[in-house]
Amino acid sequence: MKVKAAILVEQNKPLIIDDVTFPERLNYGQVLVRVFCSGICGSQIGEIDGIKGPDKFLPHLLGHEGGGIVESIGPGVTKVKKGDHVVMHWRKGIGIDSETPKYKWDNKIVNAGWLTTFNEYAIVSENRLTAIPKEIDFETAALLGCAVTTGFGIVNNNAKLKIGESVAVFGVGSVGINIIQGALLVSAYPIIAIDLYDHKLEQAKKFGATHLINASKEDVTAKILKIVGSSGVDVAIDNTGNPKVIELAYDITSASGRTILVGVVDKCSKVSLYTLPLHFEKKFFGSHGGECFPTIDIPNYLKLIIKGKAKVKEMITHRVSLSNVNHAINEMKKGNIGKCVIEIS
Ligand SMILES: [Zn+2]
Repeated sequence: MKVKAAILVEQNKPLIIDDVTFPERLNYGQVLVRVFCSGICGSQIGEIDGIKGPDKFLPHLLGHEGGGIVESIGPGVTKVKKGDHVVMHWRKGIGIDSETPKYKWDNKIVNAGWLTTFNEYAIVSENRLTAIPKEIDFETAALLGCAVTTGFGIVNNNAKLKIGESVAVFGVGSVGINIIQGALLVSAYPIIAIDLYDHKLEQAKKFGATHLINASKEDVTAKILKIVGSSGVDVAIDNTGNPKVIELAYDITSASGRTILVGVVDKCSKVSLYTLPLHFEKKFFGSHGGECFPTIDIPNYLKLIIKGKAKVKEMITHRVSLSNVNHAINEMKKGNIGKCVIEIS
């Protein structure tokens, strides 16, 4: 079977859109999924830019949040069946952790992770799929694969935000927006959004930010301390991966507060901190996808989405076809667009 896919062949180069050949058979624990919609997440931009260093898996497919329909199941699979509508998520849920698929392109092996979503079909590990009701649209499904589950997971599992605690969110892309939405759901206050772009801040406001700071025009530290008081903010969350922003986020976190890293710092960069407060109550740590557990979290969040208590589709600002994915990625890098999804089928 030939399948159209976006292939990362070289770091810092556009993706190549071409047909890849799928294996004839599914292996143990593998599921063939027809992909209808995929989100574009900061992680894929990081992969393309090589922020974690050289990539030994090149060439490979990419994308880690998607919505689709199960086409067929391999040996051992019991958690999903043909015809199921599914969220494709990068964090593990229940089910078999299968081997990763290998595709072919021009007689070369193309690698892929346990799921990829920038392709019309994907061979996915059973534990990266969660079946959802058929009335849930594929855009919502796609954003439940990372943006929503990561953002809400950071609020619940990493920040453990309590009612009335203050939070500052640096960088309000799709994960940042969902951190803000999650902070509102747990009644944190104030919820401060910081970004370089007014259009992103306006979006953050729609999702629950109570205060907006444009870091390209305003003194971020002074403004945050004016809002929360001189002792600092209870929780500061960095989505940028920028060392200077991380240092600022740490500095404005209170002596008993938590600074949480979501954005990944480039491998060549270093962060400089005054660490004495860490010997006392202050905490500084990184999040791994909000430590979310899709099997439990997705059905829980769907209850809120169905009742209109949480918004998902409203965060999408752009939709592109698979052929236009490079254009969308470039615009995202420039900060021109917010959450973009690829309409695949
Ligand atoms: Zn993601």
